[in-house]
Amino acid sequence: MTRAVLRLKRGREARARSHPWIFKGDVADVTDVAPGSAVAVVDAAGRFVGRGFYNPRPALCCRLLTWADEPLDEAFFRRRLGEALALRARGPAGLPPLGRLVWSEADGLPGLVVDRYGPALVVQCLTLGMARCRPLVLDGLAALTDGLPAFAHDEAAPARLEGFEPAHGWARGAGPASVEVEEDGVRFRVTLGAGHKTGLYLDQRENRARAGGLAAGRDVLDAFCYAGGFACHALAGGARRAVLLESSPEALAAARANLALNGVAARAEVVAANVFDELRRLERAGARFGLCVLDPPPFARSRSALEAALRGYKEINLRAMRLLAPGGHLLTFSCSYHVSEALFEEVCREAAADAGVRLRLLAPLGQASDHPVLLTVPETRYLKGLHLEAV
Ligand code: SAH
Repeated sequence: MTRAVLRLKRGREARARSHPWIFKGDVADVTDVAPGSAVAVVDAAGRFVGRGFYNPRPALCCRLLTWADEPLDEAFFRRRLGEALALRARGPAGLPPLGRLVWSEADGLPGLVVDRYGPALVVQCLTLGMARCRPLVLDGLAALTDGLPAFAHDEAAPARLEGFEPAHGWARGAGPASVEVEEDGVRFRVTLGAGHKTGLYLDQRENRARAGGLAAGRDVLDAFCYAGGFACHALAGGARRAVLLESSPEALAAARANLALNGVAARAEVVAANVFDELRRLERAGARFGLCVLDPPPFARSRSALEAALRGYKEINLRAMRLLAPGGHLLTFSCSYHVSEALFEEVCREAAADAGVRLRLLAPLGQASDHPVLLTVPETRYLKGLHLEAV
């Protein structure tokens, strides 16, 4: 077992016993250790706290993988991956063909995301330590999934922060360049290694199904549509027509392709636009929708960006509320961790007051259940939303 040791400052061990993140400011000293390798984390008195991967480069310098005194070896990865997959395979149908199989801290594997897209896995490493363990991860996944091929799709920003070369391409076996997947009866074409996240925003799955169930006979606005997920579900669910708003050319092309794939393109209007501008234009034009979806990117990526973010959320919600037809529904979201559920509800309350619209709160919304929340790691709960109905 490694003798590398990271000693915490006095008083920092209580948090470290339940939360995996150790920041540079928590550290008293570290023995000489190669960046990205395992360290035993101990308290000021030298008592074992946990074991994680150390990287002197980012402020978040160590993420704990275990609180037991065990090596981070092949057997460890096999067990953790097995637990994560077993959680997703709890339903009667076994391991689902589409969805998140491993979600970083929430599955005790900080820095690792694994998603399944039908016949292929997409593997994303977010820390140097995890990138160095990729072969162990790939071995474990192959054994647990009957050898599904795995595509590496690391994101550039975390790789830069952690100091490793982002991997991109088939990492184990090989599969098709693009796959067609089915989500609750709606089909999506995903090009492996392209687009946002690992291809789709899998965290919105249950909310897209909700939109599909609400949409019959309604005119639908899908703002920040990405690959058209909400609109495809709404149109498949019987919406009269849908307007899709998006600024990224690649996302617009994917949305058009998915609408065609589902045979609903004739009832859809895909608009390349900045949502902020287009909502104002639609309001001036007197447009009305029976269902509006607002699924913006995270406006607050850090606490310091919170105030500007709240103004942004208020603005788009106010505009969308004014576009609701009588009895219209609004599904509105924030994926900024720094915007709490209470704060998001407060922003929507202010928007409704300023818009002069009375709304019934039908349900709070959250991330799909394959993105589990760890009670002791509040950062794992990041997607929040409200289902509102104009009264
Ligand atoms: N609802 C989508 C996910 C949306 S992600 C789904 O279910 O799959 C947010 C999207 O908003 C991204 O595709 C991003 O390109 C787009 N976007 C970000 N800022 C925008 C803006 N100001 N106007 C239009 N689109 C924007």
